[in-house]
Amino acid sequence: MLESAQAIILKTAKNLDLPKETIDRLIQPNVIHELNFSVGKKIYKGFRIQHNNNLGPYKGGIRFHPNVSHEEVQALATLMTIKCAVAGLPYGGGKGGVIVNPKTLSESELKDLSLAYVRAISNFIGPELDVPAPDVNTNPKIMAWMVDEFIKLKVKNEKLKINEKTLNKLRATFTGKPINIGGSLGRTEATGRGGVFILKALLNKLKNSKVYNLKFNNLTVAVQGYGNVGYYFSKLAHNEGFKVISVSDSKGAVLVKEGLDPDTTMNCKKEKGSVAGCYCKGSVCDIRFGRTISSESLLELPVDILVPAALENVINESNMKKIKAKIIVEMANGPVTEKAYRYLTKQGVIIIPDVLANSGGVTVSYLEWYQNMHGERWSEDKVNNKLKIMMDSAFNSIWEKASKFKALDLKRAAFEVAIERIVNKMVK
Ligand code: NAD
Repeated sequence: MLESAQAIILKTAKNLDLPKETIDRLIQPNVIHELNFSVGKKIYKGFRIQHNNNLGPYKGGIRFHPNVSHEEVQALATLMTIKCAVAGLPYGGGKGGVIVNPKTLSESELKDLSLAYVRAISNFIGPELDVPAPDVNTNPKIMAWMVDEFIKLKVKNEKLKINEKTLNKLRATFTGKPINIGGSLGRTEATGRGGVFILKALLNKLKNSKVYNLKFNNLTVAVQGYGNVGYYFSKLAHNEGFKVISVSDSKGAVLVKEGLDPDTTMNCKKEKGSVAGCYCKGSVCDIRFGRTISSESLLELPVDILVPAALENVINESNMKKIKAKIIVEMANGPVTEKAYRYLTKQGVIIIPDVLANSGGVTVSYLEWYQNMHGERWSEDKVNNKLKIMMDSAFNSIWEKASKFKALDLKRAAFEVAIERIVNKMVK
């Protein structure tokens, strides 16, 4: 993962003809914090890797997982630098993680671990320094524990007097918080919503294209993954008039040719534990409406738009020749391998890269930070409107760059735009 993140930066930097010192600064993280910290008698290993802060404070989530490693955290921090730059945010990239299986911990053990990790990183995070957020196996509740511990430490160590302004600013150190302590409305849906905004922006550009010939209405969509990202993408795409015909989760997939109802499907999934068996049209689920298929065959359906929103590397050398979609929206991180990306783009498939497609989440994290820093609280509509403006602007820069290439390659364009923005801010 780290190798492929670095390889694409290297390739982009070479395309841009950047000098070796600049390339080194783009590849090497600024600071690597490797932490051994104890919780009771147990010692945990954790990381906070601060990759690049040319555009602003480091930004990136904290992951609790047994497979967390230095290499993985560095790769994710590197990609956050690119994603924030693609999204046009005043942020750099960072990432944190702890090697732990949180499913083996009780709630109070999980809380103790979260507080101990914050104590270990407290000296090098802050609203203008490094702004963590939730990632795999961390959530708003964990952010609430963390921000509370961070504020206690700051008050004690720096003898801070807390008034509303300092409290808001300290809270801005973490995003993805619960609403009652400064979280933003609209954050839960933001990644899916942002993906739909980007898809619509692309379709608007393609509307008059003789090559793609896609009609805006009733385009069919298949979504792999029905968690936070997959569900909200499906729901918002459905509301915008797309026909979502297939969705899946780890236990299987459903195909409802006439178009399924995402909310009814989610209610059914909650009842059954999986979307498998949920053939839901309107408010009714009935066996006659559809059938169960495998999650792998969902990827090969003859749909207009394919949305991998679960795992990485699911579109690869073994299935790339069977993909029939005309557009792929990479809502998961890295769902299309480099080889499959090259093959499919050559076949004329348009792939919206993850660093653009799923940047709605970090964009609303920025809006949360902004609200905290300015002591403001916005309505959900205001957040969604700002998100749309920012996603459209991110898309337009990348589209403009891509239109200078012979073939439509949005990933190359995204990396070029991001790296140019970062390099322009580097002190020479
Ligand atoms: P989630 O845990 O809420 O949902 C993941 C979904 O994928 C679940 O429905 C799960 O059942 C499904 N899944 C797992 N294995 C599967 C398989 N083999 N086939 C089909 N479905 C499978 O996670 P999420 O927050 O929705 O994130 C999904 C992806 O999007 C991840 O790659 C994540 O890194 C990326 N992402 C998420 C956000 C965010 O804001 N949540 C932001 C950027 C990127």
